[in-house]
Amino acid sequence: QALYEVKERGRNGYAFYRPTEHRHAVIEQDLPFAIMRGQFYLCYQPKVRLAKGRAMGVEALLRWRHPALGDIPPLDFIPLAEESGFIFEITLWVLERACRQVKEWERKFPGLKLAVNLSPFLLNRPELVEHVKRILRETGLAPDRLILEVTESGLMENIETGRHILTELQRLGVQAAIDDFGTGFSSLAYIRNLPVSLLKIDRSFIQGIAENSKDATIVDTIIHLAKSLDIEVLAEGVETESQVALLSQMDCDYAQGFYFSRSLEAEKLQQWLEEHNRNACGEPPA
Ligand code: C2E
Ligand code: MG
Ligand code: MG
Ligand code: MG
Repeated sequence: QALYEVKERGRNGYAFYRPTEHRHAVIEQDLPFAIMRGQFYLCYQPKVRLAKGRAMGVEALLRWRHPALGDIPPLDFIPLAEESGFIFEITLWVLERACRQVKEWERKFPGLKLAVNLSPFLLNRPELVEHVKRILRETGLAPDRLILEVTESGLMENIETGRHILTELQRLGVQAAIDDFGTGFSSLAYIRNLPVSLLKIDRSFIQGIAENSKDATIVDTIIHLAKSLDIEVLAEGVETESQVALLSQMDCDYAQGFYFSRSLEAEKLQQWLEEHNRNACGEPPA
């Protein structure tokens, strides 16, 4: 309907809004109803353990299918959700859905972990911890199967509340990962003092490692520093075989990216996991 409106306005020559502004307005107006209208769904992207090739876990990625605008990427509405406060409700929705799904997969894929993105805005909402606890109880997913990803920059901007909430979550048995590492100007010496068990190196550093020796050196250094601090490392946005080969040489623990799989809806991802783990070497995790 909204798209139709845009066309109409254009044709009649009384377009107050440029299409992007109109789109923005529609997004803002409809966001509060997206959950209720059943327009959100989740896709999952696998994280692969490089040494054995097996899937270690999946990251839940939120999708919004809008009846008029089509698929709206998260970066077009998450910031709005953060400003308006809906992000809290949305995150609970994601957690609930994703925990239930991964619990369902437990028999087929024992040990599979679930990562959910945590907006830095929620680091100022200590009541989140009780909700996480409740959702784990209600869905039956073991706390040590859940990883919450916070971007490096978001964490650094909320360092004190972040430290508090991540410590509380750790007490529950939930792990934390630093997302988009390398873009936020923090140092590993600093991160060492946070309850973080996984570092995800941002795609922008991974992109060039096969061609650019400086990028390769940076990534190699991050990997070795992180490991010396007992933090595991994952490379984001891995797209090519040569990147995989290099990262394996560098002893990177995990990788995620289009090379392995795009994010897929649950059913498709399940097929991917079945097929992939059949071809991977090594024993299934206990
Ligand atoms: P992110 O957590 O860093 O997720 C990785 C993004 O990179 C995803 O985009 C994924 O589809 C994309 N990606 C993965 N592998 C590759 C690759 O090999 N090449 C390229 N070019 N891209 C790749 P997506 O799904 O559009 O999500 C973008 C961001 O939106 C996420 O970045 C995350 O910060 C945020 N987001 C997504 N779902 C949620 C959510 O449920 N809650 C919150 N708070 N944020 C979310
Ligand atoms: Mg993430
Ligand atoms: Mg990321
Ligand atoms: Mg990102």
